[in-house]
Amino acid sequence: MKCKCGRRAVYFRRYEGALLCRECFIRSIESKVKRTIRKHGMVRKGDTIALAMSGGKDSTAAAYITHKIFGGWRDVELLAISIDEGVEPYRTDSIKRAKAFAKELGIPHHVFSFREEFKKTTDQISRKIQDSDSATNVLCTYCGVARRYLLNKKARELGATRLCMGHNLDDEAQAAMLNYIRGDLARAGRMEAVTSWSTQKRQGGLFISRIKPLREIPERESALYAYLKGFDILESHCPYAGGIRFEVRDFINRLEFKHPGTKFNILGTFDKLNPCIKRVARNGESRIMKCRICGEPSSREVCKTCELWRAP
Ligand code: SF4
Ligand code: ZN
Repeated sequence: MKCKCGRRAVYFRRYEGALLCRECFIRSIESKVKRTIRKHGMVRKGDTIALAMSGGKDSTAAAYITHKIFGGWRDVELLAISIDEGVEPYRTDSIKRAKAFAKELGIPHHVFSFREEFKKTTDQISRKIQDSDSATNVLCTYCGVARRYLLNKKARELGATRLCMGHNLDDEAQAAMLNYIRGDLARAGRMEAVTSWSTQKRQGGLFISRIKPLREIPERESALYAYLKGFDILESHCPYAGGIRFEVRDFINRLEFKHPGTKFNILGTFDKLNPCIKRVARNGESRIMKCRICGEPSSREVCKTCELWRAP
């Protein structure tokens, strides 16, 4: 089985019907990511990009390719942030790898923890709610809300203008379906590839624009890329991972297997619908104000993170 260049193929890309060798595969991933960044205007001159690094395959690949593209630009700065949610020993291991990788790239690396910020960890919350029926969904809500909060807050405090996330095509397709299933139009409207200037202005510059360079790379290709590049990544998953997102993931994977290209179609449709979803969501959107407790942006008097993590 040969790649079109004549070398031995290592991968069959079903949705394109193409066999690819190691070199052509790596090149295709990097140029796809470059195209995604350019197509959506994810980075401008003068940006400081905070790379969210968890030590897993996706954020490592996103950091590596973003650094490869912009590392040499004089007018773009890069830094790395990791969030320690307090899931032991999983997170300590993954942050060790993120730290080593940031060092290899030669960029400053900052670690912020739930313990330091909220005086509690995800492990401690898990012990409190383990009897509930939907413990995983509840725990991931606690953890996810606080991680997004801390990433945004710390990136802003460090002077970043862009927050680079490792979300791949599978993550985005799952998020689109989940928002649809939950009827969460506000969040669906925020799924755009990069936050528009008008939205940023309306939010008073309090939310750092998130960019997702891997949003058009399927998960298995991101994993293969990390493997072929020999990145030292943590392959285990968070012990609490599960819940409805996994049901949606399995459902989409079954569809993709039978109908290659399904994941691209889900995301492509959502991208096309995004302006309409935003218009509808904005009708019911409340003004962004500052949380009474922490001063971070919130649509309510007390932000969700303070409600969950700082409530007495
Ligand atoms: Fe947090 Fe859930 Fe992710 Fe684990 S799987 S890190 S608990 S959001
Ligand atoms: Zn708050």
